[in-house]
Amino acid sequence: MISVGAVHRDLADQPWSELAPSTTVLVPVGSCEQHGPHLPIGTDTLIAVTIAERAAARVTGCVIAPPLAITASGEHQGFPGTLSIGSEAMSMVVVEVARSATWAERVVFVNAHGGNADALRAASAVFARERRNALIWWPDVRGLAPAGDLHAGHVETSIMLAVHPHLVRTDRMSPGPTPPPSIEELVRDGVLAVSPNGVLGDPTAANAADGDRIVDALVEQLIAMLAP
Ligand SMILES: [Zn+2]
Repeated sequence: MISVGAVHRDLADQPWSELAPSTTVLVPVGSCEQHGPHLPIGTDTLIAVTIAERAAARVTGCVIAPPLAITASGEHQGFPGTLSIGSEAMSMVVVEVARSATWAERVVFVNAHGGNADALRAASAVFARERRNALIWWPDVRGLAPAGDLHAGHVETSIMLAVHPHLVRTDRMSPGPTPPPSIEELVRDGVLAVSPNGVLGDPTAANAADGDRIVDALVEQLIAMLAP
């Protein structure tokens, strides 16, 4: 029984007979990987779902698919909690999910994990080749994040304090290495080698007000893609 005024947007909750042909499917894309000693393994997935839900509440015709929660996280190998399918498999998953959605007008992957970049770029090239109505959304955190804030730092911790505060261990927040490692070092050596606590950035000044502001900005970015 749905309460009066509630709108059902989760794809998995609906019968096929209620899906309109003009549907846009939002597929949240997260990860299953360490996010420092203070944030949960599923941080990226929770953030992707939040952004998709808030955008879907404001753009008509959107449904939210079950998230892709185990993706490409090889750079976090060595930390407990890492589950990864690698970039090649991830790219195939994204392509096949889009190919299967022939019933929908378009598919938009809402990605919150930087480690999926190679996989999503490759999938995007396939979409272009196949002239498929499938898009990849990336958060643009320029102007929203301090320099070197790559992982489990100010941005992700602030967002989590805003949307899932009970999952943040505020007594365990500690900064990553300074100066931050280069992207080349990260790719070559992995996160564990350059940051023993798994943080790249500084979460110690994170706060819910900043988190709300950042989420609002990211939701606006996604809405601009969905309803230009
Ligand atoms: Zn993350």
